[in-house]
Amino acid sequence: MANEITGVNGPITGWLDGHTYLIGLMAYPIRHSMSPTMHNNAFAKLGLNYTYLCFEVGNDKLEKAVDAIRTLDMRGSNVSMPNKKEVIKYLDKLSKASEMCDAVNTIVNDHGVLTGYTTDGIGFVRALKKEGQTVKGKIMTLAGAGGAATPIAVQSALDGCKEIRIFNLHDDKWAQAEKNVKTIEENTDCKVTLTDLKDQDAFKKSIAESDIYCDATGVGMKPLEDMSLVEDPSWFHKDMVVFDTVYAPRTTKLMKVAQKAGVEHVFNGIGMMIEQGAASFKLWTGEEMPTDYIKQIID
Ligand code: NAD
Repeated sequence: MANEITGVNGPITGWLDGHTYLIGLMAYPIRHSMSPTMHNNAFAKLGLNYTYLCFEVGNDKLEKAVDAIRTLDMRGSNVSMPNKKEVIKYLDKLSKASEMCDAVNTIVNDHGVLTGYTTDGIGFVRALKKEGQTVKGKIMTLAGAGGAATPIAVQSALDGCKEIRIFNLHDDKWAQAEKNVKTIEENTDCKVTLTDLKDQDAFKKSIAESDIYCDATGVGMKPLEDMSLVEDPSWFHKDMVVFDTVYAPRTTKLMKVAQKAGVEHVFNGIGMMIEQGAASFKLWTGEEMPTDYIKQIID
């Protein structure tokens, strides 16, 4: 069934023709994604003859889908869950951060050679930079060790973060947390520790000593939108950065607690989401995404 198309007022020229470069997003489920809106609006704004489409692809169809990138000479693709680790075996090369995270969210096709990158961590660092903040030389307390926290930890360490204190539950992500500690220690000068989140005294002390507190757990979004890992504003100090990777809702419980504490630099995950897209966009097109324009559209 055809959907109504809005915003097209006449014949399309110079776009979606025989020369269009195709970028995909391979994940399952994926129809909810904001990435097509983000990338297609950026292509249109810059007059780039590219298009970005979602493909419902799980692990079962992944090998053929990656092969299709080569066969159809697509410029590349994003990959999301459940494919971020699984896709590695079908690629030719990996970026350093991807290797350290053991995950890929962006594939670039250079004449049949497929390179995997992870841009989520770059998105985090750039979102902070855009707000005048940096990870360089800083102490960060990081809650989580999953798909968002791992690239955040790895990229922050690669970009000169002095110390990362990871807190996680003793759940199915504990082994990944241990792996993150080992990988970061082996590859960077960043000091990194792992503590059970249940040790609330250690958690509180760590936040008090930190320049940055980042929650990458998803606590604060549905079905946990009334929860925050920090409930007491006195745990925060005013001159720190508090960052929640959640972007729905735009203001999480954690952010409210931080604002109550008088913390000036409190951020949700929308900047990270746009900046990880911008980093992928640059890898495919060589151009800077007009991020302020895109933020107006999707925020
Ligand atoms: P994940 O399932 O891979 O990891 C979840 C992490 O949270 C794990 O470390 C787990 O141990 C921990 N956790 C889960 N429930 C918890 C609880 N009740 N208390 C304490 N810790 C708990 O998920 P993910 O892909 O890393 O996503 C995490 C969050 O980051 C989600 O909200 C997601 O929307 C967000 N995210 C944002 C961006 C962005 O660009 N802003 C990108 C990726 C993910």
